[in-house]
Amino acid sequence: MIPAPVLSRLALLGNEHTLYDPDHDELREASMKGRVAVLPAYGGKFELREYQVPDPEPGAILVKLTRAGVCGSDLHIWRGEMKEIYGSPPRDLTFGHEMCGRVERLGAGVSVDSTGQPLREGDRVTFLYFFPCGRCPVCLRDEMGSCPRKARANRVAGTAPYFNNAYGDYYYLRPGGFIFHIPDEVSDDVATPANCALAQVLYGLTRAGLRQGDTAVIQGAGGLGLNAVAVARDMGADRIIVLDRVASRLELARAFGADHALSLADLTTPERRIQAVMDLTGGFGADVVADFVGYPDVVPEGLKMLRGGGCYLEVGSIAPGNVFSYDATALVRGNARLVATSNYSPWALAQALAFLRRNRARFPFERLVSHVFPLAQISDAFQEADWMQRDGAGLRISRAALSMAT
Ligand SMILES: [Zn+2]
Ligand SMILES: [Zn+2]
Repeated sequence: MIPAPVLSRLALLGNEHTLYDPDHDELREASMKGRVAVLPAYGGKFELREYQVPDPEPGAILVKLTRAGVCGSDLHIWRGEMKEIYGSPPRDLTFGHEMCGRVERLGAGVSVDSTGQPLREGDRVTFLYFFPCGRCPVCLRDEMGSCPRKARANRVAGTAPYFNNAYGDYYYLRPGGFIFHIPDEVSDDVATPANCALAQVLYGLTRAGLRQGDTAVIQGAGGLGLNAVAVARDMGADRIIVLDRVASRLELARAFGADHALSLADLTTPERRIQAVMDLTGGFGADVVADFVGYPDVVPEGLKMLRGGGCYLEVGSIAPGNVFSYDATALVRGNARLVATSNYSPWALAQALAFLRRNRARFPFERLVSHVFPLAQISDAFQEADWMQRDGAGLRISRAALSMAT
């Protein structure tokens, strides 16, 4: 075993490859190829295409993916609900952003992860799927998730370096990308949603100012909402109230730390739900109310659950067209704060991984992923996830994941 400081020096010398993994010589052959899932038409089947696996340039990292998640936003893309971004019709679309894997090859000069820990080939990692510029007034204010010059992955298949998204065998992390070790105690299945759902929830609740002793209302007990319940508990919330209409999701919300799981099947009108929150808060309302549903009618309902001076956190709305109407005067009189969050600052992913390590025995994270499909069956994964979310009326947890092992 070579001590870590020696390894990182060797990495800088560029000859770490043969020292770390004797099997690599074969992989380095010019003929090495990997699969990428390509969507030719919205709502249709994916094709698996093979591309040349690139050598990482200096500062870049080639990751061999082990898992990718099917996120709610991926379903929106697949259905064609985000055409204004992804094109109509899609041109050889590749996407996917929740993922984890192992370092396959380090570009010259890379020897540590974003927390300064030694990084070696074979290490389990996750990383940001977007790229703040780091040189603008927004990044300077530690709002990197909001960077207006933030780069995104190229989503046209066949564009070098080919492995730009989660649904493929590899991911090419460009120079400067934020990357973090996955703690040994955290499995790949549990770590997969960390770089999207969990980091975003953690970042959002932090921006909303959730504090120890607060009461939080979580609207929606899907993947995001369940993560939010656990994060709010970990942040010291005293009372957590969850709203959903599906009994199995409410049961899971309790397992993730909810004190009160309120069913829309029992509380059939917004007025009754608002009253239920008021009853549970002594008539004052909640400190933080957060939308993880993404249906516009929940916003006015949630705003009415706030205490004076409370904060409404909007995360769920990701497809365009979620228009709601509300009396601005009521916001003023309520001294309401509104926070909307997309993406996150890089520190949130490091915190998300620490959160998973710290709470791995406390909450049943493994129950968040209901199905794991091999990459070759990605079309089935999307159809199943779509069915679970739509026709299945959310009867089960809608998260599906892909395994690259086969
Ligand atoms: Zn996601
Ligand atoms: Zn920037």
